[in-house]
Amino acid sequence: MGIGITHLGSGSRGNSALLTSDHCNVLVDCGFSLKQTEKRLEIAGIDPISIDSIVVTHHHKDHSESALRASKKWESSLHCNAITASRMGWDMGECSVFGNLERIEIGPKLSLLTVPVPHDDSDNVAIIASDGSGNRVGIVTDLGEATNDLIGHLSSCNHISIEANYDHSRLMGGPYPDSLKRRISGRGGHLSNYQTAEILSRVLNPKLDSIVLCHLSEKNNAPHLAESEVLMAIGERFEGSLSISKQIGPEFSYWTGESDPNILASA
Ligand SMILES: [Zn+2]
Ligand SMILES: [Zn+2]
Repeated sequence: MGIGITHLGSGSRGNSALLTSDHCNVLVDCGFSLKQTEKRLEIAGIDPISIDSIVVTHHHKDHSESALRASKKWESSLHCNAITASRMGWDMGECSVFGNLERIEIGPKLSLLTVPVPHDDSDNVAIIASDGSGNRVGIVTDLGEATNDLIGHLSSCNHISIEANYDHSRLMGGPYPDSLKRRISGRGGHLSNYQTAEILSRVLNPKLDSIVLCHLSEKNNAPHLAESEVLMAIGERFEGSLSISKQIGPEFSYWTGESDPNILASA
């Protein structure tokens, strides 16, 4: 079967990624306005009404902005963990609550595993999607460091979308106050290009055929810096595609397993 991945856009002003498998559509995060999300879905050839589920990784606005309104308008199920629901003020009738390392069944050919990651004052999760036929996709943003659990799960993925938030020298030499620099680079902050490169070199496996770097800081990073740091670490061992998801999107789609672009248009 396979899983399709389309980033609707990624960065500190909004994040949302569409996963598709066997005519089942799920948004991982819904951090743009409802109007923007619908516009981006339509550009990607997806009728918003066909979104079956929305999964919110954590309560920060760039991941949660229009999730509740979208789920009501499109009659999609809304999934988040208990802390996210409480921070967003969503009640139990509005969302279904998942626990850590829980498998959410979105459809017969698509399930999502929630893997906790350290990030600020939130209870954030990385998502590992699986189609039950050996295709696995990791979506990982907003974390200060990778846990061993996460490394284990990423090591069997065919596709990984992972944040490369900042270039260490740019962050440290830039205009942010010291306290903010410490927060971003701390255990509960974001991944630097160097950390992302190091994680990718640990999880590299023969099945991995595409990587998307996402959530790049517009002030403290640049696409060429993120890409070169990652290539320096894995370039000689990785033969798949490496790309960057920017704030403006959607930009591109990937398929793990059997590629069938027509499914995206007709889903
Ligand atoms: Zn974020
Ligand atoms: Zn965040």
